[in-house]
Amino acid sequence: MTEFETVIGIEIHAQIATKTKMFCRCDNDSFDKEPNSNVCEICMGFPGQLPVVNDEAVQKGIKASLALNCNIPEYSKFDRKNYFYPDLPKGFQISQFDKPLAEKGWIEIDVDGKIKRINITRLHLEDDAGKLTHVPGGTLIDYNRAGTPLMEIVSEPDMRSSQEAMAYAKEIQNILRFCGSSDADMEKGMMRFDASVSIRTKGESKLYNRAEIKNLNSFRSLGAAIEYESERQMNLWQDGNPLTKDITVGWADDTQKTYFLRDKEGFDDYRFFPEPDIPPLLVNKEDLEVIAASVPEMPAQKRKRYKKDFQLLPDDIRILTSDLYTAQYFEKIVSMIEDPKKAVSFMNTILLKRLKEEQISLKESPISAEDLGRLIQLVESGDISNNQAKGEVFDVMYEERKNADDIVRDRGLQVVSNKDVIEDICKKVIEGNPGPVEDFRSGKGKAFGFLVGQVMKESKGQANPKIVNEILKRII
Ligand code: ZN
Ligand code: MN
Repeated sequence: MTEFETVIGIEIHAQIATKTKMFCRCDNDSFDKEPNSNVCEICMGFPGQLPVVNDEAVQKGIKASLALNCNIPEYSKFDRKNYFYPDLPKGFQISQFDKPLAEKGWIEIDVDGKIKRINITRLHLEDDAGKLTHVPGGTLIDYNRAGTPLMEIVSEPDMRSSQEAMAYAKEIQNILRFCGSSDADMEKGMMRFDASVSIRTKGESKLYNRAEIKNLNSFRSLGAAIEYESERQMNLWQDGNPLTKDITVGWADDTQKTYFLRDKEGFDDYRFFPEPDIPPLLVNKEDLEVIAASVPEMPAQKRKRYKKDFQLLPDDIRILTSDLYTAQYFEKIVSMIEDPKKAVSFMNTILLKRLKEEQISLKESPISAEDLGRLIQLVESGDISNNQAKGEVFDVMYEERKNADDIVRDRGLQVVSNKDVIEDICKKVIEGNPGPVEDFRSGKGKAFGFLVGQVMKESKGQANPKIVNEILKRII
């Protein structure tokens, strides 16, 4: 049996989170809008229209590029990519061809604890086309999406399995969300993947002909399509019939198969030429520094910091950095309490587990980060025990949306930690039990346990045993 290796590169189109479209002032949010109502002469490509580059799109593109560890050349430019398709009202797309916004970046992915670096070839800006919907008897066109700002992020063919490809795509989504450059909501079509798949026998470094799988719109279909296409190519190879040219294929979710679309277009097919209506994009050092300063901590940095500063386990770290909201929720709690590990144990093992069981997202959690942090504070201060906090108090917080202080007070759960009160009780017990006190002084350890028991009894079980111990030892 020949041993094969799959070689995968991914192109990601992500919608940039701007107020307006790439080259006009139409609203960039077409979600739920009447078809063809969110358009103007510019994004519809009417004669005489003049595109103007959206500065916010450039800024956020640069921000993403920096988060992806790319170089940003001082000079980049826009080009026309010419092709005819009914969803493309201008008859060309405005993209960036030979001088992209950013080049030569990388990210790290984590597959089952194995860290791997995936190189990024480039990131360029472009505008999106409209949307075709095929219905019985015809095709409907909605141009609302036409002109939407996109970043296209192109990876090197560095991935070797569907797992790596999915980890890469998820990490990119996470990074774009962390830096605020895209909402990257797959369900709203804000992020789409094209995966180039080829195979070779293991140990070879040569790249063979590839199939580019177009327009995958979920992580699951990305993984499934790569699996299918890679196996299909291995079978063809073994039948003595390998791919002899680059092809473009589609993915059918219903049959879970790829299907042939066309031979892959070469650059020549698009007749690229510089966009005459848009001046070159010049990025100076000062602008770059300002944007760089606004790039927040990225997921990979958070993972490293959580490990180094909090000594968390890899599985916990993965959960806590899986999206920005979760990381911020965790960090809010950590800022309120002393022991970060307590934040993990309350958040991951109690709250997230419960939410998962009930299929609720953390964003919809009935308990806020502040309220969970307060609950942990009550444990750290000795007001309630760990078991009370994770049991009764948590349950009531979750189910009745009450805060921890109210629950502890209303239910009389507080373990008395008031040292003055406990000291008074201790003194009373010492006075009332001269025999055991004498025994303890003369070295009989057992007598101490008896005295602690008497204090607990006197406080009706409410005193914090740790504090009782301290005080008794001190005053006897
Ligand atoms: Zn417009
Ligand atoms: Mn593109």
